[in-house]
Amino acid sequence: MSFKDLKITEPILKALAKEGYTTPTPIQAAAIPPLLEGRDLLGCAQTGTGKTAAFAIPLIQRLAQEKTAVKRPRLLKALILTPTRELAAQIGNSFTAYGAFAGLKHTVIYGGVSQNPQIQMLKLGVDILVATPGRLIDLMNQKYVDFSNIGFFVLDEADRMLDMGFLRDVEKIIDALPDKRQTMLFSATMPAEIEKLTKKILTDPVKVTV
Ligand code: AMP
Repeated sequence: MSFKDLKITEPILKALAKEGYTTPTPIQAAAIPPLLEGRDLLGCAQTGTGKTAAFAIPLIQRLAQEKTAVKRPRLLKALILTPTRELAAQIGNSFTAYGAFAGLKHTVIYGGVSQNPQIQMLKLGVDILVATPGRLIDLMNQKYVDFSNIGFFVLDEADRMLDMGFLRDVEKIIDALPDKRQTMLFSATMPAEIEKLTKKILTDPVKVTV
């Protein structure tokens, strides 16, 4: 099994080769084909399984394919929510790596640092936004975020969002997203609140457990 077998296109294959990735991890092999077809996904997986690439690769590929139609201004098409600043930064680095030749732009926003550079990036326009919930809500309240073109939403580490007390914020953000979108939810465990959330936000999801 190779990334080429998973119908990954050339710009991404080139980026993965540059990263030294030769073989998809189990979650990547299971998740990438249905995600490329536009299915929703419920991923029961921890960090370290390669879950970031499992959602980032198909997302980049689908956005890069759409892109020919929409050039400028860049419209925010994809939102990834993750609980911590460290995870947000890591996911941002993953988009930099896997998307090196895809011509997309992303930015990462999180709390504990000045809002101004983050606001500037949002004003300039990005295709992909990686965010932690608290700072995103702040910027939403100040009307710096336009969700009207979002077609892809990833909720990363949903159980940790719950543990950290972010679930209300997460739900508020989800309520502001367009209904017509592809949704991917990842959680290492499945407490009742998260199971309830999966039922609310996923439509006929493919389930992948690793
Ligand atoms: P994650 O579970 O997304 O945090 O990824 C864990 C680590 O595995 C990261 O350091 C990735 O760079 C690495 N990784 C992800 N997919 C692959 C792959 N197919 N081959 C080699 N390394 C990978």
